[in-house]
Amino acid sequence: MIRVEGLSKHYGELIVLKDINTVINKGEIISIIGPSGTGKSTFLRCLNLLETPSGGEIFIDEIPLFDKNTNVPKVRQKMGMVFQSFNLYAHLSVLENLTIGPIKLLGKNREEANKKAIELLSLVGLAEKVNSFPDELSGGQKQRVAIARCMAMEPEILLFDEPTSALDPTMVSEVLAVIRRLAREGITMVIVTHEMEFAANISSRVFYMDEGLIYEDGTPEQIFENPQKEKTKTFIHRIRSLVQHISSKEYDLYAIQGDMEQFCEKHMLSKKVNDNIMLIIEEVLTLQTDFSDIDLSLSYHEKDGSIEFLCESTGIESNLLDETIWEDNIGILILKSRCKSIEYRYINGRNSIDLTVKV
Ligand code: ADP
Ligand code: MG
Repeated sequence: MIRVEGLSKHYGELIVLKDINTVINKGEIISIIGPSGTGKSTFLRCLNLLETPSGGEIFIDEIPLFDKNTNVPKVRQKMGMVFQSFNLYAHLSVLENLTIGPIKLLGKNREEANKKAIELLSLVGLAEKVNSFPDELSGGQKQRVAIARCMAMEPEILLFDEPTSALDPTMVSEVLAVIRRLAREGITMVIVTHEMEFAANISSRVFYMDEGLIYEDGTPEQIFENPQKEKTKTFIHRIRSLVQHISSKEYDLYAIQGDMEQFCEKHMLSKKVNDNIMLIIEEVLTLQTDFSDIDLSLSYHEKDGSIEFLCESTGIESNLLDETIWEDNIGILILKSRCKSIEYRYINGRNSIDLTVKV
């Protein structure tokens, strides 16, 4: 359905897309992941004809998009795009937002358009908001209306550019649920997202973009569990872990705990795990004597559900867990009660405590 050949895009000296080649089949759900600035949005905008590439070609159903003889409005109608910032018409009601396109561009009559709009609003769970205006809706509701509006144009391909990144964390799941529901309808989708669990669950294929290329491409299992190339490995590892640095005794414990708590939320870890981690942070830091250079890192290994907490501190070798020193230390007892395993090592001038959190 979509074939991309040698696509490149430069902005002056800046080469954003170097050489993109791929084929996307009908009904496929593609997630695009990668560090920011690697051209993910640029690629989507080229697909949607919002951007003219510097070289290469995109074929949609064998029609070359950038050929001068191509009927651009007609091809564009096959595609709908959902943006980060909903872009609803503020002066129109929800219903009118959904019907204006079909009436003006698809030539539908009002009755037909209204009927379809109400159907779609039910699909995204907003049937009761038909007569509301965008500024009466929450961010998550606006984005769901934006998705319904896109569907009202009956596209064959839906493109999403980070559809949840402008939302409050509490509203992300309702939008993802709607996209998941559409995915079951068999429509072809290309989704740029940083929601990795979602990408892993919904996609038929994942593209990791870097260096102006689709740097690695595979099933979610391949990309998330067993990436082959160096940069993919680094990226996947990094998104699964959170590192916090301490450089003085005046560190902000609450900020560190807050960030770690968010990490737990993002990975849907239980309250118990979250509580264990909060205690571990406190106790591990209480054991430290030198606060000039400490790294705390929390990693979640999706494969076996294990959670690793690592504390590395620069300084002279001191086994902070040595029981002969700390026999009655309440902190050590607490750590032991909250961890499956605790290991101490001294490597390259750093004391490292490696804990596996009880789940
Ligand atoms: P991503 O979506 O992966 O974060 P983008 O496609 O938005 O990346 O941007 C890739 C690079 O291209 C960035 O360095 C960005 O600053 C640059 N860029 C994007 N659009 C333009 C533009 N219209 N003019 C100049 N530079 C741009
Ligand atoms: Mg982007």
